[in-house]
Amino acid sequence: MDRKPERGVLPCHWYENPDYPGERFLVPCCPERVQDLDAACTCELPVQELERLRAEAADQERRLRRAMLEREHYARALLQLPDGHALLDRAHRSAADDPRMPPR
Ligand SMILES: [Zn+2]
Repeated sequence: MDRKPERGVLPCHWYENPDYPGERFLVPCCPERVQDLDAACTCELPVQELERLRAEAADQERRLRRAMLEREHYARALLQLPDGHALLDRAHRSAADDPRMPPR
């Protein structure tokens, strides 16, 4: 049985190809309905996807802020050492040469 569409968006539904009568596709097609065509649709609706992506983006922003703050504390601790500036310069150069470093 199909889930009711929310806000005018259809979840998993049959698309019948007008060019090939009798041919039809389940769109977008959730795994549950691949196994059992009578199963309830569990497709993520666009509004649900947006909520999920926003939550993921907020989580990534929190993790980035945390990493940046930790980096700041590490740099401050490093600068307390007698050769801290030289060590920090070396770390910056090393990071710049790291091929894993994403572009700015
Ligand atoms: Zn579905």
